[in-house]
Amino acid sequence: MINCYGKVFSCCCCAPWPLGSIYKNTLSEIWAKSPRLKLARWLSSRGALHCFSNCFMRFIYDNKKLAQRCKGSPAHPKRIMVACGDFCNYKCIMCTADTGSSVYLNTEYVKKNIDWSKVEKIVLTGGEILAIAPAKELFLWLTREEKKKVDILSNGSLITPEWAEYLVRGQGCLSISVNAATAGTYKRICQGDFSRIIENLKKLVELKRRLKTSSVIRFTFTIIQENAHEIADAIVLANDLGCDVLGFGFATSGREFLARQQDLCRQLKARITQLVNDPKVTVAIEKAYLTEAGLL
Ligand code: SF4
Repeated sequence: MINCYGKVFSCCCCAPWPLGSIYKNTLSEIWAKSPRLKLARWLSSRGALHCFSNCFMRFIYDNKKLAQRCKGSPAHPKRIMVACGDFCNYKCIMCTADTGSSVYLNTEYVKKNIDWSKVEKIVLTGGEILAIAPAKELFLWLTREEKKKVDILSNGSLITPEWAEYLVRGQGCLSISVNAATAGTYKRICQGDFSRIIENLKKLVELKRRLKTSSVIRFTFTIIQENAHEIADAIVLANDLGCDVLGFGFATSGREFLARQQDLCRQLKARITQLVNDPKVTVAIEKAYLTEAGLL
């Protein structure tokens, strides 16, 4: 992960600590020489990394998959997430970002200090990347000049017809945070216009089909107290919209809330199980978090 200050981390959660700065060194240099990275690897190999007990990867992968994923130390990172800034046009109730911030990553260093030929997976995120001019410029540079597939995390509210085409032609995974299945819940969570997000998702699905690109349209739903009752409705909605994937995640409040709501969990489980087994539901549902919460 590279954050908006140019700091390089070995984890997408900006953990366990910064390894160096992309403003001062190339990523290859940081990766080969950082004593902090060596320490993190040493602790990790002994299961002693302080952040691991709360790592979200433990909810997604079983121990075997996790060990495979962490095996070996590549000479250069193959997966890079670039957080271009915290600025966002929304202010969601569960958001921990400094959404009014005007600190943006200097993407010129990112372009010249990373050997992009060695990178296989790129994720761009904000804040809201479509509200951050350098993030948009970096997306276009990576997809056009470097011919890379680029994944994005976005709230989807600023997708113009022009950008819908850029995104879909970028061939990556377009994760659009919806976090609701109804306009009322959407408004409570992010004060935004639900119909606009739905129209933008439809636009992406239609373009992807028309242009026959390999992009993946991913409806994302972070479970919190305010939207937990709409988890099953989100499956129906994402499926009706023609999304490829429905991804769930948790904010801490969502996990704690569901742990206290046994009746709601029982109702959700019955409905979600029915939907998952319904042949008409073709959206690929990421099930790890649902299973972990006892909803599957
Ligand atoms: S859209 Fe994302 S970055 Fe923006 S306020 Fe909501 S959670 Fe935070």
